[in-house]
Amino acid sequence: MGPVNAGKLDTADFASWIRRAAELVAADADRLTRLDAAIGDGDHGHNMDRGFRAATGALSGGTLPGDAPPGKVLITAGRAIVSKTGGASGPLYGTALRRAGKALGDTAGVDAAALGAALRAALEGVQELGKAAEGDKTMVDALAPAVAAYEAALADGAEPAACVRAAADAADRGAEATVPMQARKGRASYLGPRSVGHLDPGAASTALVLRALADVVAQGG
Ligand code: ADP
Ligand code: MG
Repeated sequence: MGPVNAGKLDTADFASWIRRAAELVAADADRLTRLDAAIGDGDHGHNMDRGFRAATGALSGGTLPGDAPPGKVLITAGRAIVSKTGGASGPLYGTALRRAGKALGDTAGVDAAALGAALRAALEGVQELGKAAEGDKTMVDALAPAVAAYEAALADGAEPAACVRAAADAADRGAEATVPMQARKGRASYLGPRSVGHLDPGAASTALVLRALADVVAQGG
């Protein structure tokens, strides 16, 4: 990132985000699967690993022109995830990334405000598709507080790195907060009260994806 683009994220940064997310998901796939085995069908780690591998592959496979804007990276990654990932999480993550990419449009250098708007668009896409509210014990319980924390940090005038760190920390706390919740959406809702006492797998994976963003922005952005 050169001085002209200081404080802005470019196409390479967004590709790094997806690659870092794929690394964190792969490293934690067994944990995500164990979480899903407790209140679902035990495939979340596999689904996420497959999806993010596909996304990384799509970005490195030469399908994306060298001068593609950051938004195109997210749209490409989202499409790959939808096409390769089973379960509820594939369409949800795919929608999140495609919506975020659309929100970025053709901007070459993404500043903190644009990134915040993209994260907000991702959340809206997930909620439109899945109809989950906060408290339903889903990925929304990690993503919604993350977006709120990002926006609060931005309003305080924080640097992009601090905004994404605030988002990732809020996602971690939001995921933890799903433990006492009873699931009202997705497979875990079939368990009714027996879903209480377990961490929601999709909230856990959402926290990883946001941590990946914080890692990348802390390094270069
Ligand atoms: P499946 O439940 O089809 O096996 P996964 O195991 O990959 O799919 O993903 C499960 C996760 O998806 C849940 O932990 C939850 O976070 C998320 N999820 C399921 N349904 C919804 C929904 N309607 N809205 C938001 N997130 C959801
Ligand atoms: Mg599952």
